[in-house]
Amino acid sequence: MTHTIGHWIAGAAVPGDSGRTLAVHDPATGEERARLAVASPEEVDRAVAAAREALPAWAGSSLARRTAVLFAYRTLLDARREELARLISAEHGKVFSDALGEVARGLEVVDLACGVPQLLKGELSTEVSARVDVASLRQPVGVVAGVTPFNFPAMVPLWMFPLAVACGNTFVLKPSEKDPSAAMLLASLAAEAGLPAGVLNVVNGDRAAVERLLDHPEVAAVSFVGSTPVAREVQRRAVAAGKRVQALGGAKNHMVVLPDADLDLAADGAVNAAYGSAGERCMAVSVVVAVGAIGDELVARIAERARAVRVGPGDDPASEMGPLITAEHRDRVAGYVQRAAAQGAEVVVDGTGLRVPGHEDGFFLGVSLLDRVPTACDAYRDEIFGPVLCVVRADSYEEAVTLVNASPWGNGAAVFTRDGGAARRFQLEVEAGMVGVNVPVPVPVGHHSFGGWKDSLFGDHHVYGEDGVRFYTRGKVVTTRWPDPADAGVDLGFPANR
Ligand code: NAD
Repeated sequence: MTHTIGHWIAGAAVPGDSGRTLAVHDPATGEERARLAVASPEEVDRAVAAAREALPAWAGSSLARRTAVLFAYRTLLDARREELARLISAEHGKVFSDALGEVARGLEVVDLACGVPQLLKGELSTEVSARVDVASLRQPVGVVAGVTPFNFPAMVPLWMFPLAVACGNTFVLKPSEKDPSAAMLLASLAAEAGLPAGVLNVVNGDRAAVERLLDHPEVAAVSFVGSTPVAREVQRRAVAAGKRVQALGGAKNHMVVLPDADLDLAADGAVNAAYGSAGERCMAVSVVVAVGAIGDELVARIAERARAVRVGPGDDPASEMGPLITAEHRDRVAGYVQRAAAQGAEVVVDGTGLRVPGHEDGFFLGVSLLDRVPTACDAYRDEIFGPVLCVVRADSYEEAVTLVNASPWGNGAAVFTRDGGAARRFQLEVEAGMVGVNVPVPVPVGHHSFGGWKDSLFGDHHVYGEDGVRFYTRGKVVTTRWPDPADAGVDLGFPANR
Protein backbone atom coordinates (compact mmCIF):
# COMPACT_ATOMS: atom_id res chain seq x y z
CA MET A 1 0.00 0.00 0.00
CA THR A 2 1.41 3.40 -0.95
CA HIS A 3 0.61 6.48 1.09
CA THR A 4 -1.21 9.58 -0.21
CA ILE A 5 0.46 12.97 0.03
CA GLY A 6 -2.03 15.74 0.81
CA HIS A 7 -1.47 19.46 1.36
CA TRP A 8 -0.05 21.72 4.08
CA ILE A 9 -2.60 24.35 5.00
CA ALA A 10 -2.79 26.64 8.06
CA GLY A 11 0.08 24.93 9.83
CA ALA A 12 -0.94 21.28 9.42
CA ALA A 13 -0.87 18.42 6.92
CA VAL A 14 -4.36 17.93 5.49
CA PRO A 15 -5.63 15.14 3.22
CA GLY A 16 -6.93 16.14 -0.18
CA ASP A 17 -10.67 16.00 -0.74
CA SER A 18 -10.95 16.46 -4.51
CA GLY A 19 -11.01 12.70 -5.11
CA ARG A 20 -8.31 13.08 -7.78
CA THR A 21 -4.80 11.66 -7.29
CA LEU A 22 -1.64 11.24 -9.37
CA ALA A 23 1.16 8.68 -9.07
CA VAL A 24 4.57 9.67 -7.69
CA HIS A 25 7.27 7.28 -8.94
CA ASP A 26 10.69 6.13 -7.84
CA PRO A 27 12.51 6.77 -11.13
CA ALA A 28 15.23 4.23 -10.27
CA THR A 29 12.76 1.33 -10.12
CA GLY A 30 9.81 2.66 -12.07
CA GLU A 31 7.58 1.75 -9.13
CA GLU A 32 4.85 3.94 -7.70
CA ARG A 33 6.00 5.13 -4.27
CA ALA A 34 3.03 7.35 -3.35
CA ARG A 35 -0.20 8.91 -4.58
CA LEU A 36 -0.49 12.67 -4.69
CA ALA A 37 -3.75 14.46 -3.92
CA VAL A 38 -4.60 16.93 -6.68
CA ALA A 39 -5.99 20.15 -5.23
CA SER A 40 -9.35 21.40 -6.45
CA PRO A 41 -9.88 25.16 -6.89
CA GLU A 42 -11.72 25.16 -3.54
CA GLU A 43 -8.70 23.63 -1.79
CA VAL A 44 -6.46 26.27 -3.37
CA ASP A 45 -8.89 28.90 -2.06
CA ARG A 46 -8.56 27.43 1.43
CA ALA A 47 -4.77 27.72 1.28
CA VAL A 48 -4.98 31.33 0.05
CA ALA A 49 -7.52 32.13 2.78
CA ALA A 50 -5.11 30.73 5.40
CA ALA A 51 -2.30 32.86 3.98
CA ARG A 52 -4.57 35.92 3.89
CA GLU A 53 -5.64 35.42 7.50
CA ALA A 54 -2.05 35.05 8.70
CA LEU A 55 -0.87 38.13 6.79
CA PRO A 56 -1.63 41.08 9.10
CA ALA A 57 0.02 39.57 12.17
CA TRP A 58 3.03 38.27 10.24
CA ALA A 59 3.53 41.47 8.22
CA GLY A 60 3.36 43.37 11.52
CA SER A 61 5.74 41.04 13.38
CA SER A 62 9.08 42.47 14.41
CA LEU A 63 12.24 41.83 12.42
CA ALA A 64 13.66 40.26 15.58
CA ARG A 65 10.84 37.69 15.64
CA ARG A 66 11.14 36.88 11.92
CA THR A 67 14.90 36.56 12.19
CA ALA A 68 14.61 34.23 15.18
CA VAL A 69 12.30 31.92 13.20
CA LEU A 70 14.61 31.96 10.18
CA PHE A 71 17.71 31.15 12.24
CA ALA A 72 15.81 28.26 13.88
CA TYR A 73 14.76 27.11 10.38
CA ARG A 74 18.34 27.24 9.15
CA THR A 75 19.48 25.11 12.09
CA LEU A 76 16.74 22.53 11.45
CA LEU A 77 17.43 22.34 7.72
CA ASP A 78 21.11 21.90 8.40
CA ALA A 79 20.42 19.10 10.89
CA ARG A 80 17.96 17.35 8.55
CA ARG A 81 19.79 17.92 5.26
CA GLU A 82 20.51 14.22 4.71
CA GLU A 83 16.86 13.27 5.22
CA LEU A 84 15.84 15.97 2.75
CA ALA A 85 18.45 14.81 0.25
CA ARG A 86 17.28 11.20 0.52
CA LEU A 87 13.69 12.29 -0.23
CA ILE A 88 14.85 14.32 -3.23
CA SER A 89 16.90 11.42 -4.56
CA ALA A 90 14.04 8.93 -4.10
CA GLU A 91 11.50 10.97 -6.08
CA HIS A 92 13.69 12.89 -8.52
CA GLY A 93 16.32 10.20 -9.09
CA LYS A 94 19.44 12.38 -8.78
CA VAL A 95 22.33 10.85 -6.87
CA PHE A 96 22.50 11.50 -3.13
CA SER A 97 25.63 13.71 -3.29
CA ASP A 98 23.97 15.88 -5.93
CA ALA A 99 20.81 16.13 -3.78
CA LEU A 100 22.96 17.22 -0.82
CA GLY A 101 24.43 19.92 -3.07
CA GLU A 102 20.92 21.08 -3.94
CA VAL A 103 20.06 21.43 -0.25
CA ALA A 104 23.29 23.35 0.41
CA ARG A 105 22.53 25.82 -2.39
CA GLY A 106 18.97 26.28 -1.07
CA LEU A 107 20.35 26.94 2.40
CA GLU A 108 22.32 29.88 0.99
CA VAL A 109 19.05 31.71 0.44
CA VAL A 110 17.93 30.94 4.00
CA ASP A 111 21.26 32.44 5.12
CA LEU A 112 20.41 35.54 3.11
CA ALA A 113 16.91 35.69 4.61
CA CYS A 114 18.40 35.50 8.14
CA GLY A 115 19.95 38.89 7.40
CA VAL A 116 16.64 40.51 6.51
CA PRO A 117 16.98 43.42 8.99
CA GLN A 118 19.94 44.60 6.93
CA LEU A 119 18.12 43.97 3.63
CA LEU A 120 15.05 46.01 4.66
CA LYS A 121 16.94 48.89 6.20
CA GLY A 122 15.55 51.61 3.96
CA GLU A 123 17.00 55.03 3.35
CA LEU A 124 16.67 58.44 4.99
CA SER A 125 17.61 61.85 3.65
CA THR A 126 17.45 64.66 6.17
CA GLU A 127 16.80 68.30 5.34
CA VAL A 128 16.02 67.81 1.65
CA SER A 129 14.25 71.15 1.97
CA ALA A 130 13.92 73.42 4.99
CA ARG A 131 12.84 71.13 7.90
CA VAL A 132 11.82 68.35 5.46
CA ASP A 133 13.08 64.74 5.66
CA VAL A 134 12.43 61.90 3.19
CA ALA A 135 12.46 58.18 4.07
CA SER A 136 12.22 55.24 1.64
CA LEU A 137 10.68 52.08 3.08
CA ARG A 138 10.01 48.63 1.70
CA GLN A 139 6.86 46.81 2.79
CA PRO A 140 5.48 43.32 2.07
CA VAL A 141 3.33 42.81 -1.03
CA GLY A 142 0.83 40.41 0.60
CA VAL A 143 0.04 36.81 -0.30
CA VAL A 144 2.68 35.41 -2.68
CA ALA A 145 2.26 32.23 -4.77
CA GLY A 146 5.22 30.10 -5.82
CA VAL A 147 5.08 27.45 -8.56
CA THR A 148 8.14 25.21 -8.89
CA PRO A 149 9.58 22.60 -11.30
CA PHE A 150 10.55 18.97 -10.73
CA ASN A 151 14.28 19.32 -11.20
CA PHE A 152 15.14 21.08 -7.91
CA PRO A 153 12.31 20.05 -5.57
CA ALA A 154 13.93 21.68 -2.52
CA MET A 155 16.29 24.35 -3.86
CA VAL A 156 13.84 26.23 -6.07
CA PRO A 157 11.15 26.49 -3.33
CA LEU A 158 13.98 27.69 -1.04
CA TRP A 159 14.83 30.37 -3.63
CA MET A 160 11.38 31.78 -2.96
CA PHE A 161 9.56 31.40 0.35
CA PRO A 162 12.31 32.07 2.93
CA LEU A 163 12.96 35.51 1.47
CA ALA A 164 9.26 36.18 0.84
CA VAL A 165 8.29 35.43 4.45
CA ALA A 166 11.38 37.23 5.79
CA CYS A 167 10.01 40.32 4.02
CA GLY A 168 6.69 39.90 5.87
CA ASN A 169 4.62 38.17 3.18
CA THR A 170 2.69 34.94 3.49
CA PHE A 171 3.11 32.21 0.91
CA VAL A 172 1.30 29.45 -1.00
CA LEU A 173 3.62 26.99 -2.74
CA LYS A 174 2.55 24.66 -5.57
CA PRO A 175 5.45 22.20 -6.00
CA SER A 176 5.98 19.90 -8.96
CA GLU A 177 3.53 17.00 -8.95
CA LYS A 178 6.40 14.65 -9.85
CA ASP A 179 8.43 15.00 -6.62
CA PRO A 180 6.37 16.83 -3.98
CA SER A 181 7.65 15.27 -0.73
CA ALA A 182 10.65 17.57 -0.26
CA ALA A 183 8.35 20.61 -0.25
CA MET A 184 6.09 18.98 2.35
CA LEU A 185 9.11 18.36 4.60
CA LEU A 186 10.28 21.96 4.08
CA ALA A 187 6.86 23.20 5.24
CA SER A 188 6.71 20.97 8.32
CA LEU A 189 10.24 22.02 9.33
CA ALA A 190 9.23 25.67 8.98
CA ALA A 191 6.36 25.05 11.41
CA GLU A 192 8.77 23.29 13.78
CA ALA A 193 11.02 26.36 13.58
CA GLY A 194 8.15 28.50 14.82
CA LEU A 195 6.70 29.93 11.61
CA PRO A 196 3.08 30.72 12.53
CA ALA A 197 0.25 28.72 10.96
CA GLY A 198 -0.82 30.04 7.56
CA VAL A 199 2.42 31.91 6.79
CA LEU A 200 3.60 29.04 4.54
CA ASN A 201 1.10 26.73 2.82
CA VAL A 202 1.60 23.98 0.24
CA VAL A 203 -1.04 22.90 -2.24
CA ASN A 204 -0.26 19.92 -4.40
CA GLY A 205 -1.66 19.43 -7.84
CA ASP A 206 -1.36 20.33 -11.47
CA ARG A 207 -2.26 23.03 -13.95
CA ALA A 208 -5.72 23.64 -12.46
CA ALA A 209 -4.22 24.56 -9.07
CA VAL A 210 -1.73 26.92 -10.75
CA GLU A 211 -4.44 28.61 -12.78
CA ARG A 212 -6.55 29.17 -9.66
CA LEU A 213 -3.56 30.81 -7.96
CA LEU A 214 -2.91 33.01 -11.01
CA ASP A 215 -6.52 34.19 -11.10
CA HIS A 216 -7.07 34.48 -7.35
CA PRO A 217 -7.84 38.08 -6.36
CA GLU A 218 -6.08 37.70 -2.98
CA VAL A 219 -2.75 36.62 -4.52
CA ALA A 220 -0.57 39.70 -5.02
CA ALA A 221 2.56 38.23 -6.60
CA VAL A 222 3.67 35.06 -8.38
CA SER A 223 7.14 33.51 -8.51
CA PHE A 224 7.29 30.79 -11.17
CA VAL A 225 10.10 28.51 -12.32
CA GLY A 226 9.56 25.95 -15.09
CA SER A 227 9.60 25.52 -18.85
CA THR A 228 9.44 28.44 -21.27
CA PRO A 229 5.96 27.88 -22.75
CA VAL A 230 4.42 27.62 -19.28
CA ALA A 231 6.47 30.56 -17.93
CA ARG A 232 5.30 32.76 -20.80
CA GLU A 233 1.65 31.85 -20.22
CA VAL A 234 1.94 32.21 -16.42
CA GLN A 235 3.31 35.71 -16.83
CA ARG A 236 0.59 36.70 -19.31
CA ARG A 237 -2.21 35.41 -17.11
CA ALA A 238 -0.86 36.75 -13.81
CA VAL A 239 -0.23 40.21 -15.28
CA ALA A 240 -3.74 40.24 -16.74
CA ALA A 241 -5.01 39.55 -13.22
CA GLY A 242 -3.05 42.56 -11.92
CA LYS A 243 -0.23 40.74 -10.16
CA ARG A 244 3.49 41.26 -10.19
CA VAL A 245 5.23 38.21 -11.61
CA GLN A 246 8.65 36.74 -12.17
CA ALA A 247 8.50 33.66 -14.42
CA LEU A 248 11.75 31.83 -15.05
CA GLY A 249 11.74 29.56 -18.11
CA GLY A 250 13.90 27.00 -19.87
CA ALA A 251 17.39 27.22 -21.27
CA LYS A 252 19.94 26.00 -23.77
CA ASN A 253 23.25 26.99 -22.25
CA HIS A 254 26.35 27.29 -24.42
CA MET A 255 29.94 26.86 -23.28
CA VAL A 256 32.47 28.47 -25.62
CA VAL A 257 35.96 26.93 -25.57
CA LEU A 258 38.60 29.23 -27.06
CA PRO A 259 41.76 27.79 -28.66
CA ASP A 260 43.99 28.79 -25.74
CA ALA A 261 41.84 27.08 -23.07
CA ASP A 262 43.10 24.32 -20.80
CA LEU A 263 41.40 21.44 -22.64
CA ASP A 264 41.39 19.05 -19.68
CA LEU A 265 39.70 21.66 -17.49
CA ALA A 266 37.23 22.39 -20.30
CA ALA A 267 36.46 18.70 -20.86
CA ASP A 268 35.93 18.12 -17.13
CA GLY A 269 33.66 21.17 -16.95
CA ALA A 270 31.63 20.14 -20.01
CA VAL A 271 31.06 16.61 -18.72
CA ASN A 272 30.14 17.72 -15.19
CA ALA A 273 27.75 20.39 -16.42
CA ALA A 274 26.19 18.38 -19.23
CA TYR A 275 25.56 15.08 -17.45
CA GLY A 276 25.27 16.08 -13.77
CA SER A 277 21.72 15.43 -12.56
CA ALA A 278 21.17 13.62 -15.91
CA GLY A 279 21.18 16.99 -17.69
CA GLU A 280 17.98 17.97 -15.88
CA ARG A 281 19.32 21.35 -14.75
CA CYS A 282 18.30 24.69 -16.19
CA MET A 283 21.99 25.65 -15.94
CA ALA A 284 23.24 22.45 -17.60
CA VAL A 285 25.64 22.96 -20.48
CA SER A 286 23.89 21.54 -23.52
CA VAL A 287 26.10 22.98 -26.28
CA VAL A 288 29.89 23.23 -26.40
CA VAL A 289 31.17 25.63 -29.05
CA ALA A 290 34.70 24.58 -29.97
CA VAL A 291 36.59 27.50 -31.52
CA GLY A 292 39.42 26.98 -33.99
CA ALA A 293 41.56 23.89 -34.40
CA ILE A 294 40.98 22.38 -30.93
CA GLY A 295 37.65 20.74 -31.88
CA ASP A 296 38.84 17.18 -32.50
CA GLU A 297 41.04 17.08 -29.41
CA LEU A 298 38.32 18.56 -27.19
CA VAL A 299 35.70 16.10 -28.45
CA ALA A 300 38.10 13.20 -27.85
CA ARG A 301 38.69 14.30 -24.25
CA ILE A 302 34.97 14.83 -23.57
CA ALA A 303 34.13 11.43 -25.12
CA GLU A 304 36.71 9.64 -22.98
CA ARG A 305 35.17 11.12 -19.83
CA ALA A 306 31.57 10.64 -21.00
CA ARG A 307 32.09 6.91 -21.62
CA ALA A 308 33.32 6.55 -18.02
CA VAL A 309 30.24 8.14 -16.35
CA ARG A 310 28.71 5.56 -14.00
CA VAL A 311 24.92 5.49 -14.30
CA GLY A 312 22.84 3.86 -11.56
CA PRO A 313 20.33 4.42 -8.78
CA GLY A 314 20.70 7.60 -6.75
CA ASP A 315 21.12 5.77 -3.44
CA ASP A 316 24.14 3.79 -4.69
CA PRO A 317 27.30 5.73 -3.72
CA ALA A 318 29.01 4.35 -6.85
CA SER A 319 26.51 6.10 -9.15
CA GLU A 320 27.50 9.42 -10.67
CA MET A 321 24.27 9.94 -12.62
CA GLY A 322 20.76 8.72 -11.86
CA PRO A 323 17.69 8.05 -13.99
CA LEU A 324 15.47 10.61 -15.72
CA ILE A 325 12.26 11.82 -14.14
CA THR A 326 9.72 9.72 -16.11
CA ALA A 327 9.70 6.99 -18.75
CA GLU A 328 8.06 9.41 -21.24
CA HIS A 329 10.78 12.00 -20.70
CA ARG A 330 13.50 9.32 -21.06
CA ASP A 331 12.01 8.23 -24.39
CA ARG A 332 11.69 11.83 -25.60
CA VAL A 333 15.36 12.51 -24.80
CA ALA A 334 16.46 9.28 -26.50
CA GLY A 335 14.54 10.36 -29.61
CA TYR A 336 16.86 13.37 -30.06
CA VAL A 337 19.89 11.07 -30.17
CA GLN A 338 18.17 8.56 -32.46
CA ARG A 339 17.23 11.31 -34.97
CA ALA A 340 20.55 13.16 -34.80
CA ALA A 341 22.52 11.20 -37.42
CA ALA A 342 19.74 11.52 -40.00
CA GLN A 343 19.75 15.28 -39.33
CA GLY A 344 23.49 15.62 -40.02
CA ALA A 345 25.15 15.23 -36.59
CA GLU A 346 27.93 12.76 -35.73
CA VAL A 347 26.93 10.49 -32.85
CA VAL A 348 30.19 10.06 -30.91
CA VAL A 349 28.71 8.46 -27.77
CA ASP A 350 25.25 6.86 -27.89
CA GLY A 351 23.73 6.20 -24.46
CA THR A 352 20.31 5.13 -25.65
CA GLY A 353 20.96 1.40 -25.30
CA LEU A 354 22.03 1.51 -21.64
CA ARG A 355 20.51 -1.02 -19.24
CA VAL A 356 21.18 -0.91 -15.49
CA PRO A 357 21.22 -4.49 -14.14
CA GLY A 358 18.59 -5.02 -11.44
CA HIS A 359 16.84 -1.77 -12.44
CA GLU A 360 15.42 -2.73 -15.82
CA ASP A 361 12.17 -0.86 -15.16
CA GLY A 362 13.92 2.33 -14.00
CA PHE A 363 13.92 5.41 -16.24
CA PHE A 364 17.62 5.22 -17.08
CA LEU A 365 19.40 6.56 -20.12
CA GLY A 366 23.14 6.63 -20.75
CA VAL A 367 25.03 9.78 -21.69
CA SER A 368 25.26 10.86 -25.32
CA LEU A 369 27.68 13.12 -27.18
CA LEU A 370 26.86 14.57 -30.59
CA ASP A 371 29.51 16.37 -32.67
CA ARG A 372 29.30 18.79 -35.62
CA VAL A 373 25.62 19.31 -34.81
CA PRO A 374 23.89 21.45 -37.47
CA THR A 375 21.95 24.35 -35.99
CA ALA A 376 18.83 23.08 -37.81
CA CYS A 377 19.04 19.71 -35.99
CA ASP A 378 16.30 19.12 -33.38
CA ALA A 379 18.97 18.35 -30.78
CA TYR A 380 20.41 21.85 -31.25
CA ARG A 381 17.13 23.74 -31.55
CA ASP A 382 15.17 22.34 -28.58
CA GLU A 383 15.77 22.28 -24.85
CA ILE A 384 16.35 18.52 -24.41
CA PHE A 385 16.70 18.50 -20.60
CA GLY A 386 18.56 15.20 -20.56
CA PRO A 387 22.11 13.78 -20.72
CA VAL A 388 22.84 14.82 -24.32
CA LEU A 389 25.71 17.18 -25.13
CA CYS A 390 25.98 18.82 -28.55
CA VAL A 391 29.28 20.11 -29.93
CA VAL A 392 29.27 22.81 -32.58
CA ARG A 393 32.40 24.03 -34.35
CA ALA A 394 33.19 27.73 -34.93
CA ASP A 395 36.15 29.29 -36.77
CA SER A 396 36.44 32.39 -34.60
CA TYR A 397 35.42 34.03 -31.33
CA GLU A 398 33.04 36.31 -33.28
CA GLU A 399 31.32 33.36 -34.95
CA ALA A 400 30.93 31.63 -31.56
CA VAL A 401 29.38 34.66 -29.84
CA THR A 402 27.06 35.29 -32.80
CA LEU A 403 25.86 31.68 -32.51
CA VAL A 404 25.28 31.93 -28.74
CA ASN A 405 23.40 35.21 -29.13
CA ALA A 406 21.15 33.78 -31.85
CA SER A 407 19.63 31.41 -29.26
CA PRO A 408 16.13 32.35 -28.13
CA TRP A 409 17.18 31.54 -24.55
CA GLY A 410 19.65 33.49 -22.41
CA ASN A 411 20.00 31.76 -19.06
CA GLY A 412 23.68 30.91 -18.62
CA ALA A 413 26.73 31.05 -20.88
CA ALA A 414 30.34 30.14 -20.18
CA VAL A 415 33.70 30.82 -21.77
CA PHE A 416 36.82 28.74 -21.21
CA THR A 417 40.04 30.60 -21.95
CA ARG A 418 43.33 31.78 -20.45
CA ASP A 419 42.97 35.15 -22.20
CA GLY A 420 41.64 37.79 -19.80
CA GLY A 421 40.85 40.20 -22.61
CA ALA A 422 38.75 37.64 -24.47
CA ALA A 423 36.94 36.68 -21.26
CA ARG A 424 36.17 40.32 -20.54
CA ARG A 425 34.81 40.82 -24.05
CA PHE A 426 32.64 37.74 -23.68
CA GLN A 427 31.16 38.97 -20.39
CA LEU A 428 30.10 42.20 -22.04
CA GLU A 429 28.97 40.83 -25.39
CA VAL A 430 27.10 37.64 -24.54
CA GLU A 431 23.29 37.85 -24.21
CA ALA A 432 22.72 35.82 -21.06
CA GLY A 433 21.82 36.64 -17.48
CA MET A 434 24.54 34.52 -15.84
CA VAL A 435 28.05 34.18 -17.23
CA GLY A 436 30.85 31.81 -16.22
CA VAL A 437 34.53 32.37 -16.92
CA ASN A 438 36.13 28.91 -16.69
CA VAL A 439 33.02 28.04 -14.61
CA PRO A 440 30.55 25.88 -16.55
CA VAL A 441 27.51 26.18 -14.24
CA PRO A 442 27.57 29.79 -13.05
CA VAL A 443 24.67 29.62 -10.56
CA PRO A 444 25.01 32.81 -8.48
CA VAL A 445 25.46 32.52 -4.71
CA GLY A 446 22.50 33.44 -2.49
CA HIS A 447 23.47 37.07 -1.94
CA HIS A 448 23.58 37.76 -5.69
CA SER A 449 20.50 37.15 -7.87
CA PHE A 450 19.64 34.34 -10.31
CA GLY A 451 17.93 34.97 -13.61
CA GLY A 452 18.23 34.72 -17.36
CA TRP A 453 17.49 36.93 -20.33
CA LYS A 454 15.18 36.53 -23.34
CA ASP A 455 12.99 33.39 -23.22
CA SER A 456 14.60 32.29 -19.96
CA LEU A 457 12.81 34.89 -17.83
CA PHE A 458 9.56 36.79 -18.17
CA GLY A 459 9.36 39.72 -15.77
CA ASP A 460 11.79 42.32 -14.49
CA HIS A 461 13.23 40.73 -11.38
CA HIS A 462 15.65 37.88 -10.95
CA VAL A 463 15.15 35.56 -7.95
CA TYR A 464 16.79 35.84 -4.51
CA GLY A 465 19.58 38.32 -3.69
CA GLU A 466 18.66 41.99 -3.86
CA ASP A 467 16.26 41.44 -6.74
CA GLY A 468 14.36 38.93 -4.60
CA VAL A 469 13.95 41.50 -1.83
CA ARG A 470 12.71 44.07 -4.34
CA PHE A 471 10.25 41.58 -5.85
CA TYR A 472 8.80 40.62 -2.47
CA THR A 473 8.42 44.21 -1.24
CA ARG A 474 6.75 47.43 -2.38
CA GLY A 475 8.50 50.74 -2.09
CA LYS A 476 7.05 53.62 -0.12
CA VAL A 477 8.50 57.11 0.23
CA VAL A 478 7.54 59.23 3.26
CA THR A 479 8.11 62.99 3.20
CA THR A 480 7.95 64.63 6.65
CA ARG A 481 7.94 68.21 7.82
CA TRP A 482 7.91 69.32 11.44
CA PRO A 483 6.64 72.85 10.92
CA ASP A 484 8.19 76.05 12.06
CA PRO A 485 6.21 79.30 12.38
CA ALA A 486 8.27 80.51 9.41
CA ASP A 487 6.42 77.95 7.20
CA ALA A 488 2.97 79.44 7.90
CA GLY A 489 0.95 81.07 5.13
CA VAL A 490 -1.18 80.07 2.14
CA ASP A 491 0.78 79.34 -1.06
CA LEU A 492 -0.99 77.54 -3.94
CA GLY A 493 2.23 77.11 -5.94
CA PHE A 494 3.78 73.65 -6.46
CA PRO A 495 6.13 73.22 -3.50
CA ALA A 496 9.66 74.03 -4.60
CA ASN A 497 12.37 72.76 -2.35
CA ARG A 498 14.46 75.46 -0.78
P1 NAD B 1 6.98 22.61 -16.21
O1 NAD B 1 6.89 23.93 -16.88
O2 NAD B 1 6.37 21.43 -16.87
O3 NAD B 1 6.30 22.67 -14.75
C1 NAD B 1 6.66 23.67 -13.81
C2 NAD B 1 5.49 23.87 -12.85
O4 NAD B 1 4.36 24.38 -13.58
C3 NAD B 1 5.01 22.60 -12.17
O5 NAD B 1 4.65 22.90 -10.84
C4 NAD B 1 3.78 22.20 -12.98
O6 NAD B 1 2.81 21.52 -12.22
C5 NAD B 1 3.23 23.53 -13.46
N1 NAD B 1 2.61 23.46 -14.79
C6 NAD B 1 2.89 22.59 -15.80
N2 NAD B 1 2.15 22.88 -16.88
C7 NAD B 1 1.38 23.96 -16.56
C8 NAD B 1 0.42 24.73 -17.28
N3 NAD B 1 0.10 24.45 -18.54
N4 NAD B 1 -0.15 25.77 -16.64
C9 NAD B 1 0.18 26.07 -15.37
N5 NAD B 1 1.08 25.36 -14.65
C10 NAD B 1 1.68 24.33 -15.23
O7 NAD B 1 8.53 22.36 -15.90
P2 NAD B 1 9.22 21.04 -15.32
O8 NAD B 1 9.21 19.98 -16.36
O9 NAD B 1 8.70 20.71 -13.97
O10 NAD B 1 10.71 21.58 -15.11
C11 NAD B 1 11.67 21.61 -16.12
C12 NAD B 1 11.73 22.95 -16.80
O11 NAD B 1 11.98 23.97 -15.85
C13 NAD B 1 12.87 23.06 -17.81
O12 NAD B 1 12.41 23.75 -18.94
C14 NAD B 1 13.92 23.86 -17.07
O13 NAD B 1 14.82 24.57 -17.90
C15 NAD B 1 13.07 24.79 -16.29
N6 NAD B 1 13.78 25.33 -15.14
C16 NAD B 1 14.17 26.62 -15.20
C17 NAD B 1 14.88 27.16 -14.15
C18 NAD B 1 15.34 28.57 -14.19
O14 NAD B 1 15.80 29.05 -13.17
N7 NAD B 1 15.24 29.28 -15.30
C19 NAD B 1 15.17 26.37 -13.02
C20 NAD B 1 14.73 25.06 -12.99
C21 NAD B 1 14.02 24.55 -14.07
